[in-house]
Amino acid sequence: MNESMQTPETMNQGKNLGVQNDAPKRFQTSLMMHSYMQQRFKNVARKDGFRAENIPEFKVWKENLGNLLRDITGYNTMIPAPLTPKITEEVKFDDYLRQRVEIQTEPGVIMPLYVLIPHHISPPYPVILAPHGHGSGGKSAVAGCREDPIIAHAIDHFNYDYGLQFVLEGFITFCPDARGFGERQEFASKEDICSSSCQWINNMAIPLGQTVTGMWTWDLHRLIDYIETREDCDSTRIGSAGLSGGALQTLWAAALDDRIKCSILSGYFYGYKEALLDRYTNCSCNYVPHLFECIDMGDLGALIAPRPLLIESGTRDPLNGASGLENVKSQIKIAKRAYHLFNAEDALKNVVFDGEHRWDGKQSVKWMNQWLI
Ligand SMILES: [Zn+2]
Repeated sequence: MNESMQTPETMNQGKNLGVQNDAPKRFQTSLMMHSYMQQRFKNVARKDGFRAENIPEFKVWKENLGNLLRDITGYNTMIPAPLTPKITEEVKFDDYLRQRVEIQTEPGVIMPLYVLIPHHISPPYPVILAPHGHGSGGKSAVAGCREDPIIAHAIDHFNYDYGLQFVLEGFITFCPDARGFGERQEFASKEDICSSSCQWINNMAIPLGQTVTGMWTWDLHRLIDYIETREDCDSTRIGSAGLSGGALQTLWAAALDDRIKCSILSGYFYGYKEALLDRYTNCSCNYVPHLFECIDMGDLGALIAPRPLLIESGTRDPLNGASGLENVKSQIKIAKRAYHLFNAEDALKNVVFDGEHRWDGKQSVKWMNQWLI
């Protein structure tokens, strides 16, 4: 991975930020805040986590936690607006048509996206939302746009073109630019197509009661509103799939909207303490005020129950945290308890593959076919 391919999520991979033995002498570890924060996490974390013993209790918990998460992310501050969709470009390929579409998600907030429409079957098509993570040039890598060599490299390195992979299997696939990425970068990060503006947007948003996470979730839900207006989409069969920050988007969007019937999270399902607190230099978009106090990531997975959820984990993905797959399993265990309440254990699957931080995808099409077709 060259320097331009490094992402805010992967920049510190390999470093154990909890160990400062190699720190320059001017640093005294006793003066640092990390251990203080670890202790605070231990004292206050996860007070709103999943503890229901039956389905009625689960439903009450789900409604209350949903409201809480919409509050702390600023989702509740977002303003509905007419979608006013515009198709601005169409490009034909051998197996699919690519539309560039713009929709309005809040007053004056425009989200550009690619829609990949399969040729070889008849509409209405089953639908895949394919949000991107970091280092993808926004929607470009996911949609398989190889014209820019940096994005072509990202596709090869991370197997990033999962949007293209889904359209070739007969799904109409929506690849949006999240706020701060691709065509939606702020000036502070426009020099590099693969960089992002998460930190700059959060710097502006958090003092105003909003977060990047809330904005992304809101925009994906408005995208589903748009999908429901398209005659070529079967909006009863909507799946969502993403790598890394695209899994973050899928996780939150599915946790807070039952219209997403089936989900795949790749490289983003692990305990907050090891993965986001101990790895405190991760990108700003991972951090929501009060999040660690309320829940752990497994609780977001529990909110999705009993809808099908596949989680891909690489054996050597440094973002899993210091204990690796153990930090994944602890969260699977939380979510699994929710699926168990519904006797839906087979709808939650953790696929562990030998590798680093990348889209594996070997079971993704099968998973969507199994549950959406
Ligand atoms: Zn970010």
